[in-house]
Amino acid sequence: MTDYDWLIIGGGPHGRFIAASIARAAPAARLAIVDPLAAMAVWRARATACGMRYLRSSNAHHLGARADSLRRFAAEHGYDDAHMLGYYRRPSLGLFDAHAAAELGAPTHIRRSAHGLARDDGAWRVQLDTGDSLTAERVVLATGPGRPSRPAGFETTEHVFDPDFALGEPGRATVIVGGGITGAQLALRAAEAGHRVCWLTRHKPVRADFDSDPCYAGPRCLVPFADTPLAERTALLAEARFPGTLPPDIYSAITAALAAGEIAWRQGHPTRLTETGVALADGRIIDAERVILATGFAHRPAPDSVLGRTIADLRLVTDTAGHLHLDSELAAAPGLHVAGRPASLQLGPMAGNIKGARLAGQTLADVARRDTLLRQANA
Ligand SMILES: Cc1cc2nc3c(=O)[nH]c(=O)nc-3n(C[C@H](O)[C@H](O)[C@H](O)COP(=O)(O)OP(=O)(O)OC[C@H]3O[C@@H](n4cnc5c(N)ncnc54)[C@H](O)[C@@H]3O)c2cc1C
Repeated sequence: MTDYDWLIIGGGPHGRFIAASIARAAPAARLAIVDPLAAMAVWRARATACGMRYLRSSNAHHLGARADSLRRFAAEHGYDDAHMLGYYRRPSLGLFDAHAAAELGAPTHIRRSAHGLARDDGAWRVQLDTGDSLTAERVVLATGPGRPSRPAGFETTEHVFDPDFALGEPGRATVIVGGGITGAQLALRAAEAGHRVCWLTRHKPVRADFDSDPCYAGPRCLVPFADTPLAERTALLAEARFPGTLPPDIYSAITAALAAGEIAWRQGHPTRLTETGVALADGRIIDAERVILATGFAHRPAPDSVLGRTIADLRLVTDTAGHLHLDSELAAAPGLHVAGRPASLQLGPMAGNIKGARLAGQTLADVARRDTLLRQANA
């Protein structure tokens, strides 16, 4: 007998929501989360680092069981309109997190890092950093968006999503690289804290409510997407995603700060760090005593990450954008499921978002229900 029915590697929003969905669907399932960090710690650290106040997604995208549970939670706990921004009622970070904490329960949490996976007698053996291992019938890799992306020429530059990032005390002339929501929020946060900020972007600020086409939150786009041959889905994902864009509140705040001269702005293609600042493709140098990247995440996992190792060891197939070929149950191999952005070829462009956690949770809850029925039938 295995140690667990389900081991979820990763206790961020995805792993936690998937665990809660499985526990609701199959209360007797023996399930644990493996993560060296506290629940949702990485999510909170990244939100704090970039100065996020409201989620970008609507109040329908949350980590509760019922579709309307965030709205109900807000009403029952006295969160006023200041916690629901704009037409889409985007939740404040405080409301989102409080609701998530109330809804996600307290699954068994093994505070270890998973090092690798191996097939073992029809089940999975998960090797831990301690040298011990655990076995499970099913494993879910929910290890998050991965390593920060550093453009060529900036391989050693600090990144807002580095685990040890700290804005620190103002003083130095600081260039923030990245024209998307993270760069804009960080520039605003740094300027508010008294830093001398220059925001460096490749394009003018572009406004978009969401980071992908909202049609993919429901069947209108997801059903035709699922009917599209796998080889054509990569192009659909690229079309449906809007990287480097800003929701209206951040767009207004940053353009107002640029207009007021509170933040300087340069447009150009950064090519490398120099001794005095950042070199651009057109030959200009932007003076900087400190450069912070806000350039998102690399879409291919680090080779030494558990996902990177698993892809290499099991020779899993990915597309040109790093998305994995999975079946409709998000399985890369029998009993080995993958959530988050790598699951985009099944879940669509929102796979890495909160909506993606919900879609993965529903899919894996169905698997857990079926396992329970099979066990009962075989008992
Ligand atoms: C600043 C920011 C704001 C965002 N805002 C929104 C938003 O408004 N709406 C939206 O829909 N999406 C948003 N997203 C996107 C997405 O919802 C978040 O990135 C979310 O945190 C992803 O959750 P996750 O569980 O996949 O990853 P993470 O939060 O990164 O969690 C992954 C976990 O896996 C653990 N882990 C990694 N490797 C191992 C290992 N080998 N062994 C054990 N554990 C491991 C990590 O310690 C971590 O706890 C935002 C993302 C960022 C960065």
